[in-house]
Amino acid sequence: MDMDFSPADAAFREEVRDFLAEKLPQHLRDGARRTPGVFVEPDIGMEWHRILYEKGWVAPHWPKEDGGTGWTPTQRFIFDKESALAGAPGLPVLALKLVGPVICAFGTPEQKARFLPRILSGEDYWCQGYSEPGSGSDLASLKTSARIEGDEYVVNGSKIWTTHAHHANWIFALVRTNAEVRPQAGITFLLMPMDQEGVEVSPIHSMSGDHEVNAVFFSDAKSHVDNRIGEEGQGWSIAKFLLENERGGSCHAPRLLQSIDTLAELAQSQPSGVNGAIAHDPRFRDRLARARLDAEALEFTELRILAELAKGRPPGPQTSLVKLLASNIGQEVDTLRVNLLGTDALQLPLERPLYGNESPEPVGSEMAQTAMGRYLNNRAATIFGGSDEVQKNIIAKTVLGL
Ligand SMILES: Cc1cc2nc3c(=O)[nH]c(=O)nc-3n(C[C@H](O)[C@H](O)[C@H](O)COP(=O)(O)OP(=O)(O)OC[C@H]3O[C@@H](n4cnc5c(N)ncnc54)[C@H](O)[C@@H]3O)c2cc1C
Repeated sequence: MDMDFSPADAAFREEVRDFLAEKLPQHLRDGARRTPGVFVEPDIGMEWHRILYEKGWVAPHWPKEDGGTGWTPTQRFIFDKESALAGAPGLPVLALKLVGPVICAFGTPEQKARFLPRILSGEDYWCQGYSEPGSGSDLASLKTSARIEGDEYVVNGSKIWTTHAHHANWIFALVRTNAEVRPQAGITFLLMPMDQEGVEVSPIHSMSGDHEVNAVFFSDAKSHVDNRIGEEGQGWSIAKFLLENERGGSCHAPRLLQSIDTLAELAQSQPSGVNGAIAHDPRFRDRLARARLDAEALEFTELRILAELAKGRPPGPQTSLVKLLASNIGQEVDTLRVNLLGTDALQLPLERPLYGNESPEPVGSEMAQTAMGRYLNNRAATIFGGSDEVQKNIIAKTVLGL
């Protein structure tokens, strides 16, 4: 694999660096750094979204004709990498990376015209209604039902772990429209407005005290038939398309490598309690070096996937490999951070946000203030988007042919 950037790509990297230096405000860098949750908070994420929208850079994953950037996969990698190095917040992914590409690929021209511009501009905020109590890994068993009455679907049932449902004005949901056929064949992909009588959102607080996920209850909730994506019963294929996008297609390694570099720097000044700085402790050095090697190997895997995409091939089941590796390396980084900070990491402030003028004073350092929250929240990384065991099953079947 040729790892050198072409002159055009090197020029693009300079353009991205200049843009980030000029347009990424310090308070967004601070907000990103001081958020212990898994997902970027809308105030931070949407401000950055709007800045990128003005530049025309908000949807690198979309086709150009639908409002995407038209970047090559290498340019997308460069943008992800430079954004990570600059400490930019992540963007809220549910609209841009999940439902947006679905509407681009499966929506009618009318649906594209109605929904895509509002996603790009940030007017709509979306959440994902896949999981239900009892239907997570075994998603095809989902029970939330939708029946047609006139020109509307009437929806009953519940979803769980719905990230940011309390911020969202739309939900994309998998609903059962036929209970008589094979489970996968009876599922339909439906867009629904959240702001209506039949939709109730109930918060779920994580063990760090953060409120990111919810339970959502539908009691005769309504959605017009025009909000169905694809045909009735096509929901399972659309769901799989979306999950592949969720698990791959963007680069996790740059952010992980950036975090590992920060830990390496901190280790130079943290006392080991025995013999100088922790950076000289052979066990710590060994773990940090392993994490770095794993993150570098992940970067190569991500680059291989990008090379496939550049040839017009879908990301495929390798995305499960990326999801598995990225979430496990991320958890190791969080563990190393807590180990490194020692007793300073034993703080779990419940005030939110931890950035801005009203934020509480950190004990020790800013990093220590969020380290435990990050550690606890990121336990979820090996569960959401498909658990480790589910990814391993997919890899065994489709990559290794077992
Ligand atoms: C923070 C967070 C945010 C989330 N956000 C969303 C969201 O926005 N929208 C949404 O729809 N969902 C969301 N989810 C739900 C997530 O997708 C599910 O939690 C996940 O798919 C696992 O389902 P489950 O929780 O029902 O666990 P289960 O499926 O009940 O699994 C329990 C355990 O059994 C194991 N297991 C299950 N099946 C197998 C198998 N075949 N072989 C081996 N082991 C197996 C699992 O690995 C796991 O360890 C979120 C979850 C979390 C934690």
